[in-house]
Amino acid sequence: MQRTKIKEILNSDPSIIIDKEYKVQGWVRTRRDSKNISFIALNDGSIINHLQIVVDHDKFDEVFLKKITTGSAIGVKGKILPSPAPKQPIELHADMIEIYGECPADEYPLQKKHHTLEFLREIAHLRPRTNTFGAIFRIRHNLSFGIHKFFNDKGFYYFHTPIITTSDCEGAGEMFRVTTLDLYNLPFTPEGKIDFTQDFFGKEASLTVSGQLEGELGALALGEIYTFGPTFRAENSNTTRHLAEFWMIEPEMAFYDLKDNMDLAEEFVKYLIKYLLDHNYEDLQFLNERYDKALLDRLNHVLDTPFERISYTDAVEILKNSKQNFEFPVYWGADLQSEHERYLVEKYYKKPVIIIDYPKEIKAFYMKSNDDGKTVRAMDVLVPRVGEIIGGSQREDDYDKLFKRIEESQVPIEDVWWYLETRKFGSAPHSGFGLGFERFMLFVTGMGNIRDVIPFPRSPKNIEF
Ligand code: ATP
Ligand code: MN
Repeated sequence: MQRTKIKEILNSDPSIIIDKEYKVQGWVRTRRDSKNISFIALNDGSIINHLQIVVDHDKFDEVFLKKITTGSAIGVKGKILPSPAPKQPIELHADMIEIYGECPADEYPLQKKHHTLEFLREIAHLRPRTNTFGAIFRIRHNLSFGIHKFFNDKGFYYFHTPIITTSDCEGAGEMFRVTTLDLYNLPFTPEGKIDFTQDFFGKEASLTVSGQLEGELGALALGEIYTFGPTFRAENSNTTRHLAEFWMIEPEMAFYDLKDNMDLAEEFVKYLIKYLLDHNYEDLQFLNERYDKALLDRLNHVLDTPFERISYTDAVEILKNSKQNFEFPVYWGADLQSEHERYLVEKYYKKPVIIIDYPKEIKAFYMKSNDDGKTVRAMDVLVPRVGEIIGGSQREDDYDKLFKRIEESQVPIEDVWWYLETRKFGSAPHSGFGLGFERFMLFVTGMGNIRDVIPFPRSPKNIEF
């Protein structure tokens, strides 16, 4: 008999499946015994809810039944019947049970009691079996799928940018080196420097911090592209918002100005929220109940509200005039800190905010200059609770201006000559942005720590599993 997923059974109209035979396979979450009957809550990962299995002791061997404990993997065949319990409309009455893997109760770390998220991080190999992480990883899947669907439906092409690279796009110098040199026997040049001409690529190579520069090359040929891939930053910041390995989505669009870019970002954020409300409602409800009572209200509010759009200069004025005591000082030219962003979003406007036209000194070399000579066409999208979720800009498309900014920013021209060359051969206005996938996961799940929205987090001194 073919296996049926528990999601399919629980989402069916009971009147259609009652009295029919099904086979299910999954892991035992709990087992409760009364005199002649046992109740097993079975979960197979397809949905947050469990299927209640009713086991009549007369039908099975007693020693065999003893082996079915919390955590064991079993298959059950039987008939669906109406359930007398108010919690669920149906239950499955077992006629046949197979045990695939027993689970020693005295050793299994996931007992019925509540476990802290910190403890669950130490057992990342087992935490997907909890309700919380089942919900989070199903949301993660649907969010990925929704991202691809959004862009595909709009005619964007999924463009694969390299993971091993020589360019430090953000210029922050936080790259992981990639080498095949023998670290115990390094080759040196006569000047005493490491001789990278003998390395695998004949040059210093690293893991990418962003696919943007290569993404722009795609946009200047295919029109509208997006990347969605792993990104690596060797920043030694042990915060709840930074990972050493995270995923990023970077759309790049030819013939888009900053306004088009903002419109796309706002539509994208709203589309994804709607997509999750449509596809993961039970999971979101669970997280709302368990971790963040304001989650669903917040998501619905963001979905229904036009984002506020203001200039950096106006944002600084608002912050300067506020009565709030900020830890970091506010003045024109200062980078906005998380506390400033959250004040604007949560206290002042009470809705998502897009800030544009930042001072060029605090933004990257590739952003298009405004006519004032002081600001660039940057945009940051800020949302409640998380702050900045998207960073983007219209890109500098003028050869001379870009050349000047590369020099000013001290980016070695031999690293980006190919990028600059696209401004010589058929340059076009274009824009794009980057969305940190795990930051967005924090926003849509209400979780507080970025290590809890990715299956196997990588952060300083943390690479188990
Ligand atoms: P932050 O100031 O928060 O470190 P950033 O300015 O370094 O961010 P960008 O270089 O603009 O960020 O990267 C684009 C997006 O990638 C950010 O908006 C954020 O969502 C995400 N991001 C950046 N660094 C990390 C990280 N270490 N872990 C997870 N996501 C990150
Ligand atoms: Mn950073």
